[in-house]
Amino acid sequence: MKKETISIVVACYNEEEALPLFYHEILKIKKELKKTDVELILVNDGSKDNTLKIMKDLCKRNSSIHYLSLSRNFGKEAAMLAGLTYAKGDYVALMDADLQDPPELLLEMFAILKSEKDVDCVATRRVTRMGEPKIRSFFARMFYKLINKISNIEVVDGARDYRLMRKNVRNAILSLKEYNRFSKGLFGFVGFNTKWLEYENKERIAGETSWSFFSLFKYAIEGIVSFSTMPLTISAFIGILFCVISFIMILVIVLKTILFGDPTSGWPSMICILFLVSGIQLFCLGIIGEYLSKTYLEAKKRPVYIIKEMDKERTKREN
Ligand code: UDP
Ligand code: MG
Repeated sequence: MKKETISIVVACYNEEEALPLFYHEILKIKKELKKTDVELILVNDGSKDNTLKIMKDLCKRNSSIHYLSLSRNFGKEAAMLAGLTYAKGDYVALMDADLQDPPELLLEMFAILKSEKDVDCVATRRVTRMGEPKIRSFFARMFYKLINKISNIEVVDGARDYRLMRKNVRNAILSLKEYNRFSKGLFGFVGFNTKWLEYENKERIAGETSWSFFSLFKYAIEGIVSFSTMPLTISAFIGILFCVISFIMILVIVLKTILFGDPTSGWPSMICILFLVSGIQLFCLGIIGEYLSKTYLEAKKRPVYIIKEMDKERTKREN
């Protein structure tokens, strides 16, 4: 019988310190999984350090390691997509290079997929956010609450990208051709039977996180815009509400003037209202602009990533 293969896709951006340690841990896992082939697909997402060189060295040392190198930094989502496209295993795992995703869980995930035939994907979520700034955790929680309220797919709080899926789930993810990829939402969208494993947050083994507060904020907006049109509805609702309020105010002022002959006064209050209303107008325009810009990028049909080079073995297999 042909041996089954697990492909582990790892997006790497400036991971020169973490990568050798990661490789070491994966070797241990490989040893445990004797009856299964494990291939490692390392994706260099335009790193500015020696990540690519380390990948090439590892590749020379071990024939089950492959690498893809993107032409610049396209972001983790794009790097994962590139890896998934080139992962041909019967099972495909997504993992970070910084060992925040405990490799030993992979064994547990695989055992579940082997024994429970109705489970298509085993995913992980962290139950604590230890080692993360409090303010960041707070906003993350708020984000998950919000997105689950306003979109009809489920985005699990604390869900990591770390997961092991059957080939059919990988194919479903690849069939989604959108340019703006929010993979936590994409996994929710494609459905399938997902089992969740929980674990405590771990800190990165080496290097630094590449997510600043601002980039996380942008990522959150991307998630919302990709999976919900509720903000558009809300902005329309605010518009209607303000029309009603101003209509009532006009009535009150006209009646007051006719009945009591009150002179209309209050330049300062007028300016305040003007500022408020134009502020809200700009805010709503901004929301529309956000959707428009995403539509604009989708319409261009640009590739999500561009590959600069990959290992010879891969090139042979692809052509
Ligand atoms: N990563 C990437 N491209 C990027 C940013 C990050 O491929 O532009 C990779 C990074 O090398 C790591 C994973 O994505 O393997 C998770 O990144 P990080 O640890 O910075 O994120 P966090 O764990 O803090 O969410
Ligand atoms: Mg990390």
